[in-house]
Amino acid sequence: MPNITEAKNIAYTAIDKQASSLIDLSKEVWDHPEPGFRERRTANLTAGYMRKIGLEPRENVAITGVIARIDTGRPGPHVAIFGELDSLIVPEHRAADSDTGAAHVCGHNIQVGNMLAAAVGLSQPEVLESLSGVISFMAVPAEEYIEIEYREGLRDSGELEFLAGKQEFIRLGELDDVDISLLTHASPNEERTLKAGTSHNGMIAKSVRFVGRSAHAGGAPHLGINALNAANLAMQAIALQRETFLDDDHIRIHPIITRGGAAVSSVPANVTMEMFIRAASIQAMKDAEKKVDQALRAGAMAIGATVEISTSPGYMPSKFDPALCDLYDEGVIELLGDTATGRMPHRTSSTDMGDVSVLMPTMQSYAGGASGRTHSNGFEITDWELDVVDAGKALAAATISLLIDDASRGRKLIDDFEAPLTISEYLATLRGLQRFETFEKFEPIPASDSPESSEPF
Ligand SMILES: [Zn+2]
Repeated sequence: MPNITEAKNIAYTAIDKQASSLIDLSKEVWDHPEPGFRERRTANLTAGYMRKIGLEPRENVAITGVIARIDTGRPGPHVAIFGELDSLIVPEHRAADSDTGAAHVCGHNIQVGNMLAAAVGLSQPEVLESLSGVISFMAVPAEEYIEIEYREGLRDSGELEFLAGKQEFIRLGELDDVDISLLTHASPNEERTLKAGTSHNGMIAKSVRFVGRSAHAGGAPHLGINALNAANLAMQAIALQRETFLDDDHIRIHPIITRGGAAVSSVPANVTMEMFIRAASIQAMKDAEKKVDQALRAGAMAIGATVEISTSPGYMPSKFDPALCDLYDEGVIELLGDTATGRMPHRTSSTDMGDVSVLMPTMQSYAGGASGRTHSNGFEITDWELDVVDAGKALAAATISLLIDDASRGRKLIDDFEAPLTISEYLATLRGLQRFETFEKFEPIPASDSPESSEPF
């Protein structure tokens, strides 16, 4: 039976043999970006590759998710390696899909590649011989929390309950027997590094509709109720709350207007917005959210509009397990040297790996080898070897360290971990954050009965 060094080397050799097919697949995903819960092509590619290397994928999990599982036949922890399937939407990007504007500006395409690279290494029979427990490769939909209105439609038609992929995986019971989770994300720096993360902000999402009354914008604005003006005032009121936020809470609030009016000559009567309220703790998220609701109501009240507020649980604040990150570092140092490792500082972005991190020891690593900025039009993957091949080897190395020698290190890690929430507490927390409220219009000063002027536009 191979020892730890031999097992890792067998895995690395197998990954190296498939390096070009893994990179080609990651490039193909880059070339065909698909936003969350629409990743049909990417999911097919992933499942096809899994079959090619002898795995038996289960498809259409949470609409587009794909899961393949390897059981060593010996009792031990269950390690899940994630890869996110979805793209963002940044139509200005050079590689954006011309129809949808979708682009892989968060680099999730490399995650599909490095997850499959780990699968290539870990599925070698000689490697599995030395391990105890279960390994799952989970291609997850919809990490990016976007197109909220579209996803609310999926929710209304019963296709999902929560608006993100890992939340749905948890709700569907796919993580019930998982003990440890790993994922490697791209990071926009060109160093050859694989640095484990520390923590991320969590987030609450809102989709908002101001309802006013249409009227001739030139001839009779006094007969209208301008929903855009209500939204505008609400955004000002949100901005004026900023001085009340504590530095340590890392609050970020960023609304967008998704519909600002129907025609320039008509007073806008239907204005929609989406926004995130991000913070480093659940309490800070809830406190900031209360202030946002006040601001939204204030905007409606001032103009005499109605506001409908749909609130969804976004993501839990992430906290990655330090012992698991240290274990991951060992493989990175072996593969790329001391300087390739380190810890990312707290990040004010959010991820649904945060939801996983409140349930079990979780590690999210950040691979360099990219340039530009994430979520923007200059983002590019520059080092495919690092992001797909080396990142996959590091995931395989961590899994071998966890599960070799009767999985002694994996078992200790699980014993030492104090989960902030059980799965049922987690689901109850999410459901507690989800609500729909309407603040009816406050009657405006009655418009005069004067007839509309007769201008044609
Ligand atoms: Zn991302």
